[in-house]
Amino acid sequence: MLSYQHAYHAGNFADVHKHLMLYTVADHLLRKKSSITYIDTHAGRGLYPLAAAETARLQEYQQGVARAWAKRTGLSKASSLLGDWLAAVGEVQQGGGLDHYPGSPWWLSHRLREQDRLRLFELHPGEHGHLADQALPEAVKRIQGDGLVGLLKALPVKTPRLCVLIDPSYERKAEYDEVADTVLSAMRKARHAVVMIWYPMLPAGRHQALLEGLRDGGLRKIWRSELTLGDPGEGHGMYGSGMLVVNPPWGLDERIHEAMAALLPLWGPTARHRGDWWVGE
Ligand code: SAM
Repeated sequence: MLSYQHAYHAGNFADVHKHLMLYTVADHLLRKKSSITYIDTHAGRGLYPLAAAETARLQEYQQGVARAWAKRTGLSKASSLLGDWLAAVGEVQQGGGLDHYPGSPWWLSHRLREQDRLRLFELHPGEHGHLADQALPEAVKRIQGDGLVGLLKALPVKTPRLCVLIDPSYERKAEYDEVADTVLSAMRKARHAVVMIWYPMLPAGRHQALLEGLRDGGLRKIWRSELTLGDPGEGHGMYGSGMLVVNPPWGLDERIHEAMAALLPLWGPTARHRGDWWVGE
């Protein structure tokens, strides 16, 4: 079952949270010269025109990147990280205003250095077709296949450093456990990898299986960032966006706290950010 298409959700509040985290982690890693392999296990299309029929249908970006874009001058003053992130969003605009939103392949490739590598996995043939059509640096490898299987096959990598994004659509309940098992296996092969794992926060609370699976599997140094717009409530909708970072770069927490404090007013008085150690050292 592969019915999820990220184009329906591109640029929503969860993308803002996820891609700000992604940008910041990469920013820290880029401070050192040694080469990095990036692996994006669930890549999606790469770049999303906001006027595309799928994206225009739900217009979730109106509650996400559009709010940040409208306030970009003030946000950039409040947090230089947000200023840099919004300037990066500006790089993909083609007209006078906000008309595109970049997906994780773009975020991971736009500052790729000569010594770095990037592998993008996408299983859906249609989504992979869109990804294959995107203009990305020549060094980027796009693979149509299962990203969790592909990640384990790719290890160990040849570069001294490894950074992984795992961003499934969680269409199947079992995916939470599959992600936890894959991360545990990957960390046995690449102990120093920096691994980012995104999860939706839904009233059913299924993400707890993922969090507990990683903790009970004996992993250490897992930092958690959760943006919630309100309480779980009775509905079925996503009320929050969560990301775990295994082996987070030093100083990530402070920069994210500052940026999220500046962003929260975009979503009103019920919005909260929690940044803490899910599992410490
Ligand atoms: N990472 C993207 C971003 O931030 O822009 C969004 C990815 S979207 C949440 C999840 C994607 O994973 C979908 O495009 C879906 O087709 C793809 N997918 C689903 N199962 C997969 C699998 N086992 N391996 C690779 N891709 C998969």
